[in-house]
Amino acid sequence: MFRQEAGSNASRWFVDSQRSSAVPRAPERRPAEEPNRRGRRGRRGGRGGEWRELSDPSDYVAVGPREPPLCFGLRSDLVGAVIGRGGSKVRDIQSITNTKIQITKGYPEAEVKIFGSKAMQTKAKAVIYNLVKRQEDNYHSESRIDTVAFQPSVESDIRKDNSIIEDQPLIDWDQIREDALKWEKEKWANLPPIKKNFYIESATTSSMSQVQIDNWRKENYNIMCDDLKDGEKRHIPNPTCKFEDAFQCYPEVMANIIKAGFQRPTPIQSQAWPIVLQGIDLIGVAQTGTGKTLSYLMPGFIHLDSQPVAKGKRNGPGMLVLTPTRELALQVEAECSKYSYKSLKSVCIYGGGDRDGQIQDLTKGVDIIIATPGRLNDLQMNNFVNLKSITYLVLDEADKMLDMGFEPQIMKILLDVRPDRQTIMTSATWPHTVRRLAQSYLKEPMIVYVGTLDLVAVNTVKQNIIVTTEEEKRSHIQSFLENMCPKDKVIVFVSRKAVADHLSSDLILRHISVESLHGNREQSDREKALENFKTGKVRILIATDLASRGLDVHDITHVYNYDFPRNIEEYVHRVGRTGRAGKTGVSITLITRNDWRVATELINILERANQNVPEDLVSMAERYKANKQKKEMEKKLGRPQGKPKKFYY
Ligand code: AMP
Repeated sequence: MFRQEAGSNASRWFVDSQRSSAVPRAPERRPAEEPNRRGRRGRRGGRGGEWRELSDPSDYVAVGPREPPLCFGLRSDLVGAVIGRGGSKVRDIQSITNTKIQITKGYPEAEVKIFGSKAMQTKAKAVIYNLVKRQEDNYHSESRIDTVAFQPSVESDIRKDNSIIEDQPLIDWDQIREDALKWEKEKWANLPPIKKNFYIESATTSSMSQVQIDNWRKENYNIMCDDLKDGEKRHIPNPTCKFEDAFQCYPEVMANIIKAGFQRPTPIQSQAWPIVLQGIDLIGVAQTGTGKTLSYLMPGFIHLDSQPVAKGKRNGPGMLVLTPTRELALQVEAECSKYSYKSLKSVCIYGGGDRDGQIQDLTKGVDIIIATPGRLNDLQMNNFVNLKSITYLVLDEADKMLDMGFEPQIMKILLDVRPDRQTIMTSATWPHTVRRLAQSYLKEPMIVYVGTLDLVAVNTVKQNIIVTTEEEKRSHIQSFLENMCPKDKVIVFVSRKAVADHLSSDLILRHISVESLHGNREQSDREKALENFKTGKVRILIATDLASRGLDVHDITHVYNYDFPRNIEEYVHRVGRTGRAGKTGVSITLITRNDWRVATELINILERANQNVPEDLVSMAERYKANKQKKEMEKKLGRPQGKPKKFYY
């Protein structure tokens, strides 16, 4: 696992252990003050570690005489265990041992250099040794084969100095786990019971034959369902094709639906309602605009109203809906109020909104909280809200919440929500990260996919692809906008807030009326922009993906992908913003060499939707494939691949 090496000249990237007061720096040597040496933030620097370039690391360690660095090789697959999340572990080692540690990427082994006093170098090495050993014990105990020659001298160095090994506090994980389980049990003891099943299947629904069910699913966006419970699979409930099939016993719900004037349930509603009304956890893979909000709200209302503990005695909210953006939170809240049931009270909690007002609303008592994770976590940490009473939880647009980095807040929020609740999760896409989230927070769920994965939804959209260069993008969009018909309504997707700003100011200068929607705009400006676009006052909206989530506008005629999205699923999602509710739509997508890695996937999507595939796109995909193969070959042969060596620290 380690290989000892002779000392060599120091490389230049180090983690700045800001939390370590034991490592004072000479102020006059701070590289940030040297004009020709730019301080640089590491990719993961946001979590507290700033990466700086230092002239000579040993100068910065407040220890006796300068020692040459202690150098050794470390198997590259073990480097992560030493660095830790965002560099946290290596920072700790530096701090504990008063050393500076530099790890230079390499294959099959990375190079580790430790700067500091001799004793501390050995100590740091011992800590690293323990870390990688633990990592190996955990994951490879059955086949511990070192690809790098193990140098006994390294181990004996550590073993000779028993005090070093003893310095490392041993963590008793078994005890910690046992304590956690005990604490968890105590925390959730004496909770009131939950009632979850409120479904009575109608005669029409139960009389459906398997052929009828299969046909119905095929005709309704090719709905696919599955039971994710381990072991014997349960019967997936038959779809409720009419409103009364789901809500015949709930006249108030029926009255609201009639008031809204809806003709029939949307596909996701038909298939989700009988599952959720039975108290089964559900994952709905469906986009905005499919009616997914009511697919969880309606059963949620019934769930809340039918609990054994009356709502006045619950001592907190009963339903929590977590959403990624303020826009979506407000939209869900609007649906909640519109279909309000037995005077259930809802409140919307989101960052950027009036915090004091939100606290006041919470203290007055609410039944339903619709919230973005950041603000709710803030109020939870400050004890302004009790989440223990929640029995019905919704994670709406889970993929977007993860994209926006809300996982830590979601984790903290859910620590306070009783584990035997009912949980519904919706997501427009179904990548690995969302599956992992579902695995952690849902119990034996069923899953309903609507269209998205099969991409049937985009059949109603004529998809045009323009292979171009970054420089030519402006002229493409200008000519498109100048040729728009008066009834056209277009949403232009861009990758970054700055691009949205540049593009919109450019167009305004050309007297083209546009609105823009991105995370840096004030909440009131965002609401105004959205309103203007919805009402048709402005017919061009320039938006980033995150800001446009939850955007529910029915009459968009064109989607213009000025920048290609980060992944192909987002492409499908964007394109699906037009061609809704039986209408047809058009999408125009600019794609450049920067996006060539998605070319093959894009071709697949276009082919499946019977769209034209431009020749340029095919050759782009081929060039990317050839380039990839060349790189892999070079890697196998161990040749340098053009880019300079990267340093972790
Ligand atoms: P969502 O997918 O929840 O964002 O819903 C999009 C829009 O569809 C909302 O404006 C809903 O009011 C509307 N909607 C929900 N259910 C139905 C339905 N069964 N029939 C027609 N429109 C619906």
